[in-house]
Amino acid sequence: MGTSERPDDTFDVIVVGAGPAGGSAARAAAAAGARVCVLERSSMPRYKTCGGGLVGLSTDHVGIDLAGLVRATVSSLTMTLDGRYTVSRGQRNARPWLSMVMRTDLDAALLAAAEAAGAIVRTGVQVLGLREEAEPVAWLAGAAVPVVDDGWVSVRVRGGADLRARVVIGADGASGRCGTHVGVRCDQIDVGLEGEFVVDAALAERWAGRMLLDWGPVPGSYGWLFPKGRVLTVGVIGDRARGAALRDYYERFVERLGLAGAPRQHDSGHLTRVRAVDSPLRRGRVLVAGDAAGLLDPWTREGISFALRSGRLAGEAAAGAVGAPGATGPAGSAALDAYPARVEAVLGPEMAAGREVLGAFTRRPGVMHALMAGPGTFGLFTRLIEGRTTVARQLRRPGVRTAVAALGR
Ligand SMILES: Cc1cc2nc3c(=O)[nH]c(=O)nc-3n(C[C@H](O)[C@H](O)[C@H](O)COP(=O)(O)OP(=O)(O)OC[C@H]3O[C@@H](n4cnc5c(N)ncnc54)[C@H](O)[C@@H]3O)c2cc1C
Repeated sequence: MGTSERPDDTFDVIVVGAGPAGGSAARAAAAAGARVCVLERSSMPRYKTCGGGLVGLSTDHVGIDLAGLVRATVSSLTMTLDGRYTVSRGQRNARPWLSMVMRTDLDAALLAAAEAAGAIVRTGVQVLGLREEAEPVAWLAGAAVPVVDDGWVSVRVRGGADLRARVVIGADGASGRCGTHVGVRCDQIDVGLEGEFVVDAALAERWAGRMLLDWGPVPGSYGWLFPKGRVLTVGVIGDRARGAALRDYYERFVERLGLAGAPRQHDSGHLTRVRAVDSPLRRGRVLVAGDAAGLLDPWTREGISFALRSGRLAGEAAAGAVGAPGATGPAGSAALDAYPARVEAVLGPEMAAGREVLGAFTRRPGVMHALMAGPGTFGLFTRLIEGRTTVARQLRRPGVRTAVAALGR
């Protein structure tokens, strides 16, 4: 092998994790011409505890044809406050404002799109740790494109030899190794409990086109029912420190919906972590995206659109850093330097707004229920879900911020 020939265990970019953040990152970097490898510990397709609700910002940024993936759409909403004060809005045959997918299907399709763009995928490979090396790499000596500098990241995997990359994108979710390596700090840790319930035709029909949101008894928690034909996805999410109360809420919620005896395809729990405002998004040549970076809406805990958008930004930055021929934006180490600011610019205002609303919602769920159930609010709610406006933009309206701040005190 000549000095500029690359060995099989060496890549421009290694992406750890094949969720929406990893699939999106790998696709962006590979499409720009970088040599990309995705490492995923599970075999794909794999299950992920998630409601699978795709808001407008997710469908806008998913970058693949969703036609065969959407199991159901939603055009009406029922809201309750811990099972009481039921309010229903919208018509079930009206224009839909939310799409439902199974994450098994979505993540597999995103990974296939990354492969089609040229990424190499290795499944059943668990990453155990990362180590940054500063020495020159022989094969970089003859590289025709500008490089970050003479260094790389060594990626340790279970049961195999180390792999190497010039840039690593950590997209390994809320409990992954990459966030720890980068030093991501989170100041909100929640647990979601969720099941996929198989129901008879009559119950499926009752929920067709309609979703349920229930503001929960545990401060800051809520529950949902998402219809997906003969499967109903039902879950609750809230502060991990209140785990026992959340479990109790989940069981009562399921019972109230008449689903306690229904067969469950899956019944599982998963953490979500929201990053502290000044938490790092990069360490050296390792970038983090999606849940691994703690990027999600603190109030709704919606995270797919955050994973898709930050994953793509990370993929573009990595492509620029390694001098991929189709990269746009800054090149070399400037591309990595720019990544945190780009994420902050796009996702920072949404996260700040989500925090503010969570504060109000945690302290005054009853007032929030009354406000959201108000006759004029449904139109705003659907525009938020569709991504035609954002909570951040709404909070800039005169009087709204003051009111939300007052509720949060
Ligand atoms: C109960 C619940 C319901 C939710 N509902 C919604 C919803 O309806 N809509 C929405 O937008 N968001 C929802 N979210 C949030 C959403 O699921 C996450 O924000 C989203 O999955 C983040 O994507 P990601 O790619 O960053 O991480 P993940 O989807 O978690 O993907 C990480 C991947 O990395 C792999 N991995 C982990 N460790 C390693 C390792 N060491 N080596 C190799 N691979 C590894 C994992 O196997 C996984 O495939 C929900 C979350 C929960 C908990």
